[in-house]
Amino acid sequence: MLFTLAGHLALALQKTESVAKTERLAAQMATLYDLGLETTALQDLRPLFAKATEEVGRLTKADHTSVLRLDPADDVLRFFAAWTRDPAVEAYGQPEFALGEGIAGQVARDRVPALVNDPEDRPGFVALDNPIARLICVPLVHYERDDTPNLFGVLNASRKPGTPPFTSEDLEYLTRFASQLSIAVANSMAFAAERERSEQLALVNTLIREIAGNLSREAIMKTSVRRIHEAFRYPVVCIGVPDPASDSHLIVAAASREPRAQEGGTEPLRGGVSGRAILEKRTILVPDVAEDPDYLPLFPSTRSMVSIPIFSGEDVVAVLTVGSDVRRGFDRGQVITLETLADGIGIILRNADLYQALERTNAKLVELDRMKSELVNIVAHDFRSPLAGVLGHAELLEWKPDASRDERVEQARAIIRAATHMASLVDKTLKTTRLETGHFPFEFGVVELGAVVRAVVSRLPDDPKHPVSFDTPDDPVPCWADQDRMSEVVENLVSNAIKYSPAGGPVRVELKRDAELATLTMIDVGMGIDAKDMDRLFRPFSRVRNRRTAEIEGSGLGLYICDRIVKAHGGRLWVESRPGQGSAFSFALPLFGVAAQTRAPLVLVAAGDEWTRREVKRVAESRGYATHEVSDGVEAVEAAMRLVPAAVVLDRILPRLGAGEVAERLKENAATESVPLFALAAQADLGERSHLFAGYVPKPLDLNRLSEALEGVLRAPRAS
Ligand code: ADP
Repeated sequence: MLFTLAGHLALALQKTESVAKTERLAAQMATLYDLGLETTALQDLRPLFAKATEEVGRLTKADHTSVLRLDPADDVLRFFAAWTRDPAVEAYGQPEFALGEGIAGQVARDRVPALVNDPEDRPGFVALDNPIARLICVPLVHYERDDTPNLFGVLNASRKPGTPPFTSEDLEYLTRFASQLSIAVANSMAFAAERERSEQLALVNTLIREIAGNLSREAIMKTSVRRIHEAFRYPVVCIGVPDPASDSHLIVAAASREPRAQEGGTEPLRGGVSGRAILEKRTILVPDVAEDPDYLPLFPSTRSMVSIPIFSGEDVVAVLTVGSDVRRGFDRGQVITLETLADGIGIILRNADLYQALERTNAKLVELDRMKSELVNIVAHDFRSPLAGVLGHAELLEWKPDASRDERVEQARAIIRAATHMASLVDKTLKTTRLETGHFPFEFGVVELGAVVRAVVSRLPDDPKHPVSFDTPDDPVPCWADQDRMSEVVENLVSNAIKYSPAGGPVRVELKRDAELATLTMIDVGMGIDAKDMDRLFRPFSRVRNRRTAEIEGSGLGLYICDRIVKAHGGRLWVESRPGQGSAFSFALPLFGVAAQTRAPLVLVAAGDEWTRREVKRVAESRGYATHEVSDGVEAVEAAMRLVPAAVVLDRILPRLGAGEVAERLKENAATESVPLFALAAQADLGERSHLFAGYVPKPLDLNRLSEALEGVLRAPRAS
């Protein structure tokens, strides 16, 4: 009985002890958990581990405990925290184990706990400074948010020789403790990562704000790399811009301690990591450059690197490359941060482009607005006076039914004069709008300029106040021109010479030719033009208004139209003048036979930016074509009508008229309707006008595709 009682008592005691033990354990776990929550950064994990190793030492009656942390940069386990029962006697060393080396290395590699009570029996056991006879080593594995297991390191508990061996219970306890510890680690790591991320994002924000103020592409890229280098402390940061022509990319901005990552250097597009990011349009992360066949050993200190494409819409316009001097120097979070930055840089680059385009458009709009108000002015003022003339004379006719015949003829003539002036105003206004929008058809042929001038002069009314003389060379002066438009220009300039010599005076027309050019000059001895007015003469609706011109009728459109026509002929128009003494307006046109159509088949290249023009030109010329370049849509239409090229390559977005609109105009014109057109765009981007094109070469420019497209044209019989 007593025995039974004693037994019960013993059991009860045991239970109490175990309850107490469990409670103690729970309390310790709670402490650990709290500690974990409080720790906010990786370095704050040390106190947690100091406490943890102490707890483990006491609970497992160990003599030493330690935590070794795996350094992801080189896969070596290094001392992180330790506890020893008798610090006065023993100090814990600072051991290091490579993965697989020693028990710790094996546990870390295999992630399987180990219990060793007899080191002699255990291969790989490394005896350290402290005499160790018993050892438990468990892995510390924590799970990231996406459940990827991540090895933090190992937890060791050891006893001196002559102590009792560790039991499997000790092992189980330590394993459980390790998993609790890992939760704390995961929490604090997540917290630390979160904090680092938000710090980085704050940096990204400041950085983006800083570079957003720049409007030049170069400044944007240079500031970006400098700031990334400073703020994130990566040893190599550079931005390259693809240059498909040379199959390479050009480093336009670099911030680095590496002498080789220099601005102005080029890297191959194929066979390099950054090149791969450009070609594959995605982030390429190289955790260990030693293991990547594509890595070009450009930066000796680089151990890991990441290349991130910078997009403008669908196109890769640049690549951000960052190198770290440790292996696996970029975790997922850092890559995401850098990607965010690259996206930001892309947007800012595009904004800068758009801003510049906007500035140009704005300038054009201001000009258009000016033209519109001038037009309103013209309608209100210049249209009104001839209209008043028409009305006045018509009324006179109505009120004087018995006027003499001569009188009536006089009134009718006045009406006709005023109405003709109005018609000419309307005509010129319409012409201007059509010239502005590429809607002006030209019909080119071989034109003898001497004959054109003679015809114009012969049509002039006899005017003894303004005798017109004409000097012409003996040889004919053939030009590739639209005869009617040329007559119009000559007529306009000659009548201006007469009109702006109100006091009378001779007008001399001189035609000259040299090896390549025909030059026609109209010389008057009239009122001349003030220097301050010279700039605006060729702008639409721009008249010189002063005392001398007050009485002279005009629209301010004549010179603008002349200038545009001459330009559409591949020529130029200019003026020399002396106020009070007279003016000389000249224009020069290429002689027939000098123009490109007599050489190799011609490719007309239309692109707003010089780089694209140069690249297309290079490909076309390597294919045996001659090329002619223009930088806007209206010029493209005019040059195509004049030159009737073998093919036209049109960048999708062009100033004034886009590729689709240019194509429409060319297909409407008999001379150009069968010229094959190529768009530097994806077919889908051209919408319903895509059928007007014979081929599409999307951007970034694939020069091989372009070359193949042109090849097809060269082989096909040329449309005549
Ligand atoms: P307008 O219809 O006013 O003549 P233009 O465009 O032909 O328009 O000419 C623009 C301005 O240039 C004119 O208003 C005039 O002041 C000046 N101009 C043109 N030709 C001459 C000239 N031969 N001598 C002096 N001024 C001229």
